[in-house]
Amino acid sequence: GAQRESKVRVRAHFDYNPDVDPYIPCKEAGLAFQRGDVLHIVAQDDAYWWQARKEHERSARAGLIPSRALQERRILHDRSQKDGTDLDSKQNDDFDREQIATYEEVAKLYPRPGVFRPVVLIGAPGVGRNELRRRLIARDPEKFRSPVPYTTRPMRTGEVPGREYIFVAREKMDADIEAGKFVEHGEYKGHLYGTSSESVKSIVNAGCVCVLSPHYQAIKTLRTAQLKPFLIHVKPPELDLLKATRTEARAKSTFDEANARSFTDEEFDDMVKSAERIDFLYGHFFDVEIVNGELVNAFEQLVQNVERLETEPLWAPSMWVQ
Ligand code: 5GP
Repeated sequence: GAQRESKVRVRAHFDYNPDVDPYIPCKEAGLAFQRGDVLHIVAQDDAYWWQARKEHERSARAGLIPSRALQERRILHDRSQKDGTDLDSKQNDDFDREQIATYEEVAKLYPRPGVFRPVVLIGAPGVGRNELRRRLIARDPEKFRSPVPYTTRPMRTGEVPGREYIFVAREKMDADIEAGKFVEHGEYKGHLYGTSSESVKSIVNAGCVCVLSPHYQAIKTLRTAQLKPFLIHVKPPELDLLKATRTEARAKSTFDEANARSFTDEEFDDMVKSAERIDFLYGHFFDVEIVNGELVNAFEQLVQNVERLETEPLWAPSMWVQ
């Protein structure tokens, strides 16, 4: 009879290959996918095996994928097997992985004229997310803006309150952080620094594109229905290219001062490792990845993505779409 297809779309938060799944009833019927793929769930009647097709392969035959319940059980099982042996999993930012990444329901978020989602550049220190942010703002400072950060450090001569920073007392900032008023914060040389969610909202409400480049831990607090951030992972290219492009950029002074300093081999290694870690922890949350090899290319991709944001409906958590 006429089967009514579900409207459910999910973003996969893990890779799946039926060829190496010993439990799938029939390997040929399986659908392989990768983390980040959007899947159209065609049938969810079976407790263990859903039927799905990839969103961009609409005419293809539907295939079997593990249901959410089955995948959760597998993750918990793997985790209990690893317990005590995998020291790395004890790191506290693995908190996010604890949230059992399976499938996230998504829907198309349509651009609204004059209302721009904040653009959030995440990346390992040194890869160039701040540089890309500065370039975007320099391109059109009326349109692209970053909030003035708060700090508890004393004002320096030449600084103007509200220009470099909003200067506040430690007690006040501690209390506001506690109350969840900051989308991100950090401590540096004994002083607090941070960005308030109010300042992000006021930039959005002014019809501008808010551009942020916080520490990757900020993803947890930023990723809300209220802010609807567009998350970009600014990644390093592979090691040789990373070294070559930075050496060349230094020679030609194409990067600004912050990035023009020379990095040691160890720092280059750290960038690559740190990027892999960000990918492991948060890879499923990014809307796009931009590889920052040649800066001009990376910037071009950033500009293109910001334009997409203004013109194309894009997949976002269905909770964000009303
Ligand atoms: P300074 O006190 O010299 O102006 O800044 C020192 C450091 O504070 C910066 O290099 C940066 O690491 C940190 N910082 C500045 N603004 C912010 C912010 O908005 N959030 C966080 N987490 N750190 C900031």
